[in-house]
Amino acid sequence: MGSEPMLIEQKDQLKDKLKEVFGYGQFRGNQEAIIKNILKGKNTFVIMPTGAGKSLCYQLPAVMLEGTAIVISPLIALMKNQVDQLNALGVNAQFLNSTLSKSEINRVKQETLDGKVKLLYVAPESLTKPENISFLKESNLRFAAIDEAHCISEWGHDFRPEYRKIKTILGELGNLPIIALTATATPKVKLDIQRNLQMEDADVFKSSFNRENLYYEVRSKKDIKKQLIKFVKAHHGKSGIVYCLSRKTVEEIAEFLKVNDIKAAPYHAGLDSSIRIKNQDDFLNEEIHVVVATIAFGMGIDKPDVRFVVHYDTPKSLEGYYQETGRAGRDGLEGNCLMFYSYNDIIKLEKFNKDKPVTERENAKLLLEEMASYAESSVCRRKQLLHYFGESYTEQYCKENKWCDNCRYPKEEFEGKDYALTALKAVQQTEERFGLKHLTHVITGIKSQYVQSYKHFDLPVFGSGNEHSMEFWNSVLRQCMMLGFLEKDVEQIGVIKLTDKGKAFLGETHALYLSKDHDYGSEEEPDITDEAVTTRSYDATLFELLKGLRKKIAKQKGLPPYVIFQDPSLEEMAIVYPTTREELSQINGVGRGKVNKFGQPFIDAIKKYVVENDITTASDVVIKSAVNKSKNKIYIIQQIDRKVDLEEIAESKSMKMEDLLGEIEQICYSGTKLNLDYYVEQIMDDDRQDELYDYFLSAESDSISTALEELEDEDFSEEELRLMRIKFLSEYAN
Ligand code: ADP
Ligand code: ZN
Repeated sequence: MGSEPMLIEQKDQLKDKLKEVFGYGQFRGNQEAIIKNILKGKNTFVIMPTGAGKSLCYQLPAVMLEGTAIVISPLIALMKNQVDQLNALGVNAQFLNSTLSKSEINRVKQETLDGKVKLLYVAPESLTKPENISFLKESNLRFAAIDEAHCISEWGHDFRPEYRKIKTILGELGNLPIIALTATATPKVKLDIQRNLQMEDADVFKSSFNRENLYYEVRSKKDIKKQLIKFVKAHHGKSGIVYCLSRKTVEEIAEFLKVNDIKAAPYHAGLDSSIRIKNQDDFLNEEIHVVVATIAFGMGIDKPDVRFVVHYDTPKSLEGYYQETGRAGRDGLEGNCLMFYSYNDIIKLEKFNKDKPVTERENAKLLLEEMASYAESSVCRRKQLLHYFGESYTEQYCKENKWCDNCRYPKEEFEGKDYALTALKAVQQTEERFGLKHLTHVITGIKSQYVQSYKHFDLPVFGSGNEHSMEFWNSVLRQCMMLGFLEKDVEQIGVIKLTDKGKAFLGETHALYLSKDHDYGSEEEPDITDEAVTTRSYDATLFELLKGLRKKIAKQKGLPPYVIFQDPSLEEMAIVYPTTREELSQINGVGRGKVNKFGQPFIDAIKKYVVENDITTASDVVIKSAVNKSKNKIYIIQQIDRKVDLEEIAESKSMKMEDLLGEIEQICYSGTKLNLDYYVEQIMDDDRQDELYDYFLSAESDSISTALEELEDEDFSEEELRLMRIKFLSEYAN
């Protein structure tokens, strides 16, 4: 679309629309680049984790273009949810599926033909109906978005045969640009999607799959019920999902939670549909806190404030696991993902597959092996998951923040150079044509059928690692993949090859560390406390009050609460106390549409609260100053909540450290509690902290210059003093 000058103009237009319609001040990640690509009419492939904001990538261009975008989506619940949310924003979106009556279908079709519908959601089954095809041919379609595009591939975890027909039908509708979107795609699945949609030429936008706000954890199934109750109670009042494999377990665990005073309900395909709908709605409306479900639950559930996802049984694949855990913390706030693992589950799952056709069975088995090795490995969870999706990740961040169980309770590491060398030699000497199992046979010297027929017992590497078990070598081989020495072949499933890095290592080895796998059966795993993992600095009382109000309004309007405002928006309100429509529209996630539709009661409630609690100082400092300044403060508060290094915050805002401290002091003096422990701990040992603490406890004033004088002999820096003063004030004064 258009020439260069228009593109420059377009940039502001895009941002304006983003704010006006969706209420967001900034694009996230690749969104802007993707949207531009779509507006240029190009085929686009978007791979983005759940919660990163895929929908906006096609929703915004659809709003901007004349005519209609067609969105193909596999689940009716998912469509309804998105259509509801879009309608709440004032965008004309409709769906076409089997739940509509004849007259509703006619209305949707007429509105589409009249060019009023911006987004038309269609299930793949409906797409294939002849009467729909002819109607679509007459409509002014601009592009087709294919959501959950991994359903095309049988190598993924959610193959849907009808997805294979999409391309043929789209072909009949003329040459529409295609935008394919998915939240999981291993390199193999990605290749499959592009081939099937004949969009090898597409521009690919792959964002990192790292969900930084999710905490991953695996525990043994020992004493599972006790563990479960402790965990759920530690997250009291928050929304969570507990996944179980069978309907029977779902019923049993839901009942078990209920008798333990937890507001829980079951969800599975065997329940009467009216009960299913009720339980789902109760969850969305926060009448119940925990849904115990089979994986039938979730794909359509767009609840952004799910705070925990528990896998009571071991999942069937890492893709599924990643997708399901991805339902936690979609709003970017905390999300706890706990999986219970037992090798017995893997064996049970394997048995389920025994009646499947050979290739399907083999495929399922590989997926299960990946699952088991993920659970048993003591490598950073995040690193493993990302590696699985073809991404390399240095675990620095996770290590420092202890943001997965393996980083929080690290296993001992051992020097692994010689082991890695043996593993690579095995791959090299078998000519890069085999998978894990065969390689471990060769290394440990097992004369299996394959070893015999390829005469691999003659290789120098054969039996050279027989002092260790097959599990040990399996783990070494996998860690070599994560180190980038070995890789899976994308064309031949299961085959492992050397990378250039691996070849270089064979030429010249160097020291490296490997870590021992977990052994959930025998050893004592570390004691885990179910402490809450985050603390936040908004006004919790106001936040709860606003949440209550949201629930009430949601009920009146028959909408799920988050359609009104999402948690991060409420949190921000509980930081800045907006008391006018203008101020409210400055909150992230609040556009003009939402201010008009839902704003007034919130403004009234905040006004009342501010008066009753005499919060003049806070609102004076935070709101009444220039907008930019208060935005800065919110940013700082949020970054500190996320435990970002102060230096990093200063850098990202191009501020000097002392100015940042100044801002933080102002925030603190205006009554907001900040928790800087994570940073203070880094720069000061406990003794020094205690000393300053005692000083401020007994000092006459909190003046820094006085403190510098009085503590002259101790050699404290001004920064240290100021930080401790903030910590002190936060703890005592706020
Ligand atoms: P996905 O489809 O990728 O799982 P969604 O499209 O449902 O994710 O978006 C996840 C959440 O992020 C939603 O609550 C959405 O409103 C929010 N979101 C999307 N884009 C932005 C943005 N630019 N700024 C703030 N929030 C956004
Ligand atoms: Zn980690």
